[in-house]
Amino acid sequence: MDSLGKNCKERSGLWQPWRYGLYPDRVGNHVKKKMSECSGEEILEELFYHLKITDKMQPILDAGKANCIPVMMPFVDSLFMPRELGDRPDVIPEGSTNFAFLGQFAEVANDCVFTVEYSVRCAQTAVYSFFETDKKVLPIYQGHHMIALYAIISGCE
Ligand SMILES: Cc1cc2nc3c(=O)[nH]c(=O)nc-3n(C[C@H](O)[C@H](O)[C@H](O)COP(=O)(O)OP(=O)(O)OC[C@H]3O[C@@H](n4cnc5c(N)ncnc54)[C@H](O)[C@@H]3O)c2cc1C
Repeated sequence: MDSLGKNCKERSGLWQPWRYGLYPDRVGNHVKKKMSECSGEEILEELFYHLKITDKMQPILDAGKANCIPVMMPFVDSLFMPRELGDRPDVIPEGSTNFAFLGQFAEVANDCVFTVEYSVRCAQTAVYSFFETDKKVLPIYQGHHMIALYAIISGCE
């Protein structure tokens, strides 16, 4: 669930998650259609089938309490395309004194794309470098240093 969903729930009692399918052109296991050709209802049907909650969800659907609105986002995964060092420009290219690259396609070492923080870090890097300020760029959360996380992944909690 994203932050929008959380705020929405707190404000209005609605729960608004968003999810996306990485392979919209594959035929479903339950609904024998490509996801890209499915209605919102059919997408929910396929989802509930995989989660094994069809029986529980059917009365909720019948009561009109759940809704799925499909949206095609053809570029949403472009941030995750394979890349090599040097494919993306540094936030502050070498020699630049007043020009920076911002956003998800600039290179921020050790950071993870698809977050607002990534873009914010770019902007902070640019502004704090070009202007005299004592402010520091937000530190990057180093999740891969969490031993506890490895324990959970390997089933040794
Ligand atoms: C469905 C979805 C859910 C997401 N959920 C989360 C989440 O829960 N948490 C999270 O951290 N991140 C989330 N993200 C990612 C996050 O939204 C982006 O990483 C972030 O918004 C990028 O910020 P940005 O300012 O770099 O670019 P953008 O927010 O894309 O802003 C770029 C702006 O430039 C404008 N623009 C483009 N071209 C021109 C032009 N030629 N002239 C003038 N203006 C132009 C655009 O209209 C846009 O307003 C989500 C993204 C999507 C698509």
